[in-house]
Amino acid sequence: MTTASASANSASGHPAVTPPSPKVPEVRPDRASRVVTSDDPHEVSQEDMMEAVRTILLGVGEDPDREGLLKTPKRVAEAMRFLTSGYDQSLEDLVNGAIFDEGHNEMVLVRDITAFSLCEHHMLPFMGRVHVAYIPTQKVVGLSKLARIVEMYSRRLQVQERLTRQIAEAVQEILDPQGVAVVMEATHMCMVMRGVQKPGSWTVTSAMLGAFQEDQRTRDEFLSLIRHQPAFMA
Ligand SMILES: [Zn+2]
Repeated sequence: MTTASASANSASGHPAVTPPSPKVPEVRPDRASRVVTSDDPHEVSQEDMMEAVRTILLGVGEDPDREGLLKTPKRVAEAMRFLTSGYDQSLEDLVNGAIFDEGHNEMVLVRDITAFSLCEHHMLPFMGRVHVAYIPTQKVVGLSKLARIVEMYSRRLQVQERLTRQIAEAVQEILDPQGVAVVMEATHMCMVMRGVQKPGSWTVTSAMLGAFQEDQRTRDEFLSLIRHQPAFMA
């Protein structure tokens, strides 16, 4: 739409004018946590979801009334609710005061956090490992909370790039550290199972903030630490 109006304007010699965009409140369920109210018009009941799964079963040529599939719509609806339960969590509740003033100023790295998510294009799983590092400005967060942050953003419909960045921005928000680095290595079922990608190949995404973005030595130290295999794992 923007492209069409711009070319029309230039043809008539008038400067391009961007038409005012209609004021629609921006709803980004992938960014914000869901506030559930009883009169929410977007609220979809479990029965509605089950009916949709039934339709999918019919669409793939199955018989939803055969014995093995009788409980499938209910199971799928419940599984989808669980796998997207990150929408119902907020960063504030999750951290819940587990921030400590330790005066620590050296890099903190938690490697190999296992993550399972669903790609928003196919609603198929992608899974892998996340490495999260930060350099504190005095404040540190309980180590298990970093894994919980990864989990909260993973349990939403995602693209790997956004998931990686959201984890980094969450750590930035709660600790205001000198820098944050997040690397995610994942394999996507929508690619592997459909044959676009060879099984065993990985997609790597990274998000670097603050010192990790500005200082090559800091970034290199982080990258070498996530490559290094600890002796006890050998
Ligand atoms: Zn996909």
